[in-house]
Amino acid sequence: LRIEFLGACREVGRSAFVIDDNDYRFQLDSGVKVHDHFEAHQEPKNPVKSIITTHAHLDHSGALPKSFKHHPAIAFTTFPTIPLIDLLVEDSIKIARQEGKTLPISRAEVKSMQKNLIPLPYNKRVPLTKKSEFELFDAGHILGSAQVMYRGGKNVFYTGDFRSSPSRLHAGASFPKESVDALIIESSYAMRAQPKRDEVEQRFADAVQSAVEEGRTVLIPCFAIGRTQEVLMVLKSRGVKANIHLDGMGREVNKIYHDYPTYLKNAEALTAAIEDSTTVIDRAERKKIVKEPGVIIAGSGMLEGGTALSYIQKLNELGKGAVMLTGFQVNGCNGDTLLRQGFVKDRGKTVKIKLPVQLHNFSAHATPEDLRDAVKRLGPEKVFCVHGEPEGCDAFAKELREQGFDASAPRAGTAVEF
Ligand SMILES: [Zn+2]
Ligand SMILES: [Zn+2]
Repeated sequence: LRIEFLGACREVGRSAFVIDDNDYRFQLDSGVKVHDHFEAHQEPKNPVKSIITTHAHLDHSGALPKSFKHHPAIAFTTFPTIPLIDLLVEDSIKIARQEGKTLPISRAEVKSMQKNLIPLPYNKRVPLTKKSEFELFDAGHILGSAQVMYRGGKNVFYTGDFRSSPSRLHAGASFPKESVDALIIESSYAMRAQPKRDEVEQRFADAVQSAVEEGRTVLIPCFAIGRTQEVLMVLKSRGVKANIHLDGMGREVNKIYHDYPTYLKNAEALTAAIEDSTTVIDRAERKKIVKEPGVIIAGSGMLEGGTALSYIQKLNELGKGAVMLTGFQVNGCNGDTLLRQGFVKDRGKTVKIKLPVQLHNFSAHATPEDLRDAVKRLGPEKVFCVHGEPEGCDAFAKELREQGFDASAPRAGTAVEF
């Protein structure tokens, strides 16, 4: 069995791996670097017969439209992932156009991708050849996110992005019972502690409530998928009293979450939280809500474009706002420069922001404990630490080697055979 590493190697972004077992070649994920003009993973040297996509985030799915252009692969994913990919890709094309840029994917390619995507449920064994099969397991990361178990000449488990610890939306990842020969594991938070979710939620709810009581309009930049829904649920269940407005792509994503209740821990609680918020429908309403104390939830989560970037500038002019970031901010993104240097960039123009800014550490990724538990549980012969900063991947692999595992942090373009 051979594993080829095409992306997400010592970086977060453009996930892609090829498994070649007795000449059946298939690919795990097909991602892009979202903030780097959709730079795709390395091309596989030989064509693959199928592609399994773990979830809708574009660092795992953004290169799928391209993948069908040159060879007739089929692609598998979960049911909710299909409409979510659709929405994300269309939205990226739209935003690029508004900014006067073009993405390296076309609508025609998106259409052809839609025809080739086959939806599957979790926990169903799907044959690939007479001697091999795969099965998807709930990853507990976002709606429809999956981990992949491949059973063939050897068994390989790929976590995609996962989270075992529960959140408002998901009960936590599930795993196969047997041990595996190889494990490809995400390492986003391998070396970074995550504060307890309960404490994060309470601190966040308290901060939002006191800012509203000071008469501020609180902007909460959120990823449209997952974080938006989680934040709505936290605000409701922690009893925050404020007018809550929802703008941007999160509105569409809410509908998709609503369509797949069995993929959620508590769909009724989410529906109740969504019903407690109001959806922003036009410009007149936008003009009005920035002048009132309350909450505005909008994308993007890192303030890279989207309605959140317009809101922050408007609130800055008016001087009565506050900003609560709700997740990891990549080095150099607007959320990061806002926190460290007090400015954001919009279409090349630097804007100094004079509003109070806080970061609340919500995460949909495995905690350091989740990662170590997964390795222990699956007892792999080989471990490949991927999807993390180079130092994190290296340190995680080193720690596992010290415990007796054959662990490494592979580089893109390399392959292993065993
Ligand atoms: Zn993800
Ligand atoms: Zn990812």
